[in-house]
Amino acid sequence: MKKITRKEKRERRKEINFFQEFIKIKKHFFKDINTKLKTVKDKRHQSYIEYTPDIILFNVLMKNITSIQSMNQMTTEFNTEECINNVSRVLGYDDLEELPHHDTINNFLKRLKPIEIEKIRKYMIKELFKKRCLEQYRLLDKYWTIAVDATGLVSFDERHCEHCLKREYANKETGEVEKTIYFHYVLEAKLVVGDMVFSIDTEFIENEESYEKQDCELKAFKRLAERLKKNYKRLPICILGDSLYAVDPIFKLCKGKDWKYIFTFKEGRTKSIWLEFEELKEIEDNSNSKGCTWVNEIEYKENIVNILEAKLIENNKEKEFTFITNIPIKENNAEKVLFAGRSRWKIENEGFNNQKNIKNNIKHLCCKDYNAMKNHYLLVQIADILRQLFECGYELIRSLKASIKEISSRLLESFRRELITVEDIIKLNKRIQIRYL
Ligand SMILES: [Zn+2]
Repeated sequence: MKKITRKEKRERRKEINFFQEFIKIKKHFFKDINTKLKTVKDKRHQSYIEYTPDIILFNVLMKNITSIQSMNQMTTEFNTEECINNVSRVLGYDDLEELPHHDTINNFLKRLKPIEIEKIRKYMIKELFKKRCLEQYRLLDKYWTIAVDATGLVSFDERHCEHCLKREYANKETGEVEKTIYFHYVLEAKLVVGDMVFSIDTEFIENEESYEKQDCELKAFKRLAERLKKNYKRLPICILGDSLYAVDPIFKLCKGKDWKYIFTFKEGRTKSIWLEFEELKEIEDNSNSKGCTWVNEIEYKENIVNILEAKLIENNKEKEFTFITNIPIKENNAEKVLFAGRSRWKIENEGFNNQKNIKNNIKHLCCKDYNAMKNHYLLVQIADILRQLFECGYELIRSLKASIKEISSRLLESFRRELITVEDIIKLNKRIQIRYL
């Protein structure tokens, strides 16, 4: 590609209507998404409804995509004639006078069942698979890598709802409880495709009745795994997880679902496997020139596991990685398995960004309603799929080499200042060419 000068870059950026380009991407990948947004099961009293669900949900999606931090700020930013017009055009209305106030939106989200948003995400992920545009990212040309990780959503000094998790901090000397916190945690499963990570499933870690037997990440993973298998029956999956997952029940669970796994492996988690690995790696001496050493077929409680260790020097620093997997390691796949195992960090990175966004949402949710909180969380995940396809997946935007912050602020400005016309919308029916990295 020809190198462009700074001046050319500025000129080109000026010409682009970011919002129009964004809706091109939305339409290209998810042509039925407007209908999906409109037809969620609406629990509100039908005679008081001023805004249909698509208007409400599209507002929240745009808020998340343009990185607006609070619902209040959203109401202010979106309060322009152009913005109201743009929402009308995109959703096919011609009579919108105002956009919904954040209270109206939160009242709607308090009653909406989270499964309604999960259904939209499932539609989106299935469309991406159908388009076959991400095939190049399969591990060993076969497996879709899905990283799992839990992240904190919000915490309180007092019990906030009946589903809160509880943690007590005791005084080390007296053993008396000094502090108790109540919090919410969520387990995310994200499809890792190149630089993009798309939320494919979410399980909230929450208590059912009592604090006697609290919910935890591994219990939540079992629920998530059941649903993932049900929703994507024949999908060849490889689960990526941290060392918490490297235990017998999870090995068996993955095997039972015909899934592969690559988990971070630590000595303390499963000591007997570690000792056997240390012993066998000297005897067998399986290694490659890239710093990988491995031992296949270690038996452990009716599981056959393989261990891959890598000692690398990157940026003048020594780095060490150890993974446990049910993929047999060979000379020609060691590096690929290592790369997949290491790509798990992307979920932490992405999770962190989302968390910032979601925490701000919750802070501004005056009632801190748990159901609305879940819906906000899921809408962040959906918005993130759209945002990443726009930023990383679209050659036009990628070629600008603009920062994420720049792109979202340009998109926001365009959404609230540049008019989209009916003709623009008609033009969207033309097929566009999307090329990936
Ligand atoms: Zn709670």
